[in-house]
Amino acid sequence: MKPKTKLQKRVVELHHKNRKAHPQIEEWAIKKSMKFVQKKKETCVCAECRYEFSYKQSDFHRGRITCPMCNKKLRSFEGKTRSARQTFYYSQITVIEEFQVIRIWEFDKYSKSYSYPGIHTRELFQHWIHPSGQHEIMSVNIGGFGYGFSHGIEMEIRHDHDRYYPSSYVYPEKKILPIVKRNGYKHVSGFSDAWLMHALLAYNKAETLFKAGQYYLCAAMESSYKRERIEKYWPQIRICMRNNFIVKNPSDWFDHLRLIQDEFDLDIYNPKYICPKDFKKVKQHYIDKRNKRVRERQKIEQEKAYLKDNNKYIRDKSRFFDIVISKGDLTITPLKSLDEFREEAQALHHCVFSPTYYNDKNSLILSAKKKGERLETIEFNLKGLNVEQSRGLENKPTRYSKRILELMNENVKLIKEKI
Ligand SMILES: [Zn+2]
Repeated sequence: MKPKTKLQKRVVELHHKNRKAHPQIEEWAIKKSMKFVQKKKETCVCAECRYEFSYKQSDFHRGRITCPMCNKKLRSFEGKTRSARQTFYYSQITVIEEFQVIRIWEFDKYSKSYSYPGIHTRELFQHWIHPSGQHEIMSVNIGGFGYGFSHGIEMEIRHDHDRYYPSSYVYPEKKILPIVKRNGYKHVSGFSDAWLMHALLAYNKAETLFKAGQYYLCAAMESSYKRERIEKYWPQIRICMRNNFIVKNPSDWFDHLRLIQDEFDLDIYNPKYICPKDFKKVKQHYIDKRNKRVRERQKIEQEKAYLKDNNKYIRDKSRFFDIVISKGDLTITPLKSLDEFREEAQALHHCVFSPTYYNDKNSLILSAKKKGERLETIEFNLKGLNVEQSRGLENKPTRYSKRILELMNENVKLIKEKI
């Protein structure tokens, strides 16, 4: 992207004037890289200088052996392999004119037995941070990190402001703008130095959080969503800082505040609720309490729905309730409530206890019994005036099926009269 703003033009100009990296930075990165040896039965082959030497097991200290030729400390290749590839990112923190600059390189090394290592480094990013907090990134191709970049593409200004990567190694000779120092900068592992320096200049709350050791909240400012949360809950964060409470998981903590306030109407200015010593336990307590409430609400809703369905069933079907069809020891009567649907389903292990049956205005469900014992459940179609199905235990027919069907057919008029 072509530089458009005054700041971008200035960055590009300074970038071209300061292209070269100091060779000692690369040498330092090479020293940081892992060095390998092929461990054979009686000899070792140095994958740095190709020297082959005999060894005793006791020459290895903590898995490392020193090459008698190049003096480097070597580790064995994994298992039976004879080569290894390693990639990492290293950075330099420096000052160019008025800018705090962080340069990030990729280091790629291929070590192989009986060969000299192949080493490639290339610069991926330059963060240019202005004392005003404005920030520009020069980078090679956008896309992924590492191998996702196309080789040989020139560094340009890119709309890449949210990309911050912590590097594995930071070149120890650092130059830091006085204002960055004054705002509290120090290297904290896991933090991208570029992000931190930018944040310390751009957001005054980042400076407060960082100086108070609230690193996780400070890091959370990288996300604009969490920045909003931090603004919203700033009074609570101040209470935490006064009570020496470190917010270790900002997302969890924000959720907790919302829960205790919205669901339980608790005072979120009370340290007892917002920064208890055993935060995890307290948080879990309120989550459990909320879940219990939800379950209770669901149960009440279910009971209400049950009652409503039962009333509807009685309203729709009570005109059939006095029907008794009987012959010999068989008696057939309609089910008179949802409770009876449940009992029928439990006794015969089928699924008649379902809205499909009790809410269907075109079907009447009856129970066939022999001397009071349940035999089959009958679905009678009130529109077609026919038996739709009749099922016994576990949905199977019984030896009474035929008699039940005949009895129903003989008495259709009893039902028809009631429609
Ligand atoms: Zn060697």
